[in-house]
Amino acid sequence: MSEKRTEISELGEFGLIDQLAKGALIKNPSTLKGIGDDAAVLDAGDQVTVVSTDLLLEGVHFDLAYTPLPHLGFKAVAVNVSDIAAMNAIPTQITVSLALSNRFSVEAVQALYEGIYAACEQYGVDLVGGDTTVSRSGLVISVTAMGQAKKEQLSYRSGAQVNDILCVTGDLGAALVGLQILEREKQVFLSNPDMKPELEKYTVVTGRQLRPDARMDIIHELRELGVVPSSMIDISDGLASEIFHLCKASGVGATIYEDKLPIDKQTFDTAVELNLDPITCVLNGGEDYELLFTIDQKDFAKLEKHPDVHFIGHITKAEEGKFLVTKSGTAVQIKAQGWKHF
Ligand code: ADP
Ligand code: MG
Repeated sequence: MSEKRTEISELGEFGLIDQLAKGALIKNPSTLKGIGDDAAVLDAGDQVTVVSTDLLLEGVHFDLAYTPLPHLGFKAVAVNVSDIAAMNAIPTQITVSLALSNRFSVEAVQALYEGIYAACEQYGVDLVGGDTTVSRSGLVISVTAMGQAKKEQLSYRSGAQVNDILCVTGDLGAALVGLQILEREKQVFLSNPDMKPELEKYTVVTGRQLRPDARMDIIHELRELGVVPSSMIDISDGLASEIFHLCKASGVGATIYEDKLPIDKQTFDTAVELNLDPITCVLNGGEDYELLFTIDQKDFAKLEKHPDVHFIGHITKAEEGKFLVTKSGTAVQIKAQGWKHF
């Protein structure tokens, strides 16, 4: 008798999550939103609590050959804070769970926590607990972040409306390009340990890979300007992939314009140096942790002059599809490549 065996790669990460989510029957009325957004939303009286969790594995998500431990600690917190930001909520607490091998000294763990505490300081969150255990295969860091918002302030992935303006913060593609540089210099070092890595030229892109910042600054500014995005998601898997998530959750399509896509000069130049297409890096590079959101046209004037918010396109009807209009004016279908873990 042979049992059916389906490879995880057949479903992919998102297909697998969709499949598993079917069993998650909501029993408590306080669960306002379960699986399917950047964070879960729980009723907490006047306010809601949002919760998000992420797992970082040595050898999959980071390489200790070029990752300083304080940066890693900071990043582990920042990527979770980014998911809280993506709900338009304010982060308040985190828990941190570690699996450590005996390769780690107390000093090394302290260095990791230097970064964790720096992020707690920067984002105004309290470390309130966690778990510590032993690992036989490398460092594992799991962070859970909690945050708060008023119900009417939340921005779900599902709220985008036809004719809304699509916005992104900062610039894109830097983290992917930074990773390529770090990998390249690691190989150079492995083949000749006397060679000093040449990294001074690349501090913007490597910095984005090693120590990304969650865009809480934007969340606070949106509040001051009185703008609640109609939908929002953070860009962890690449712009194209996040556009797909947003459009799927909202039941809409989107058109974006190549000439509006923000890319830093160092990212552009380094991509060219690495023989990568800069626009592909912008569309499919992961881990930038910028925010992708939509606003109603009536809010455009409030954000128009913001130096770090870029208007990259607009929302269309679902049947109009998802398109990138190139600089030469041709509309090409957007493909969601994102990161393939499986
Ligand atoms: P993000 O990139 O914002 O962290 P993910 O793509 O990791 O989001 O997850 C999408 C949704 O699926 C989230 O609601 C997340 O909580 C949920 N999810 C991911 N993995 C699992 C799992 N193994 N079991 C239940 N829910 C999961
Ligand atoms: Mg997210």
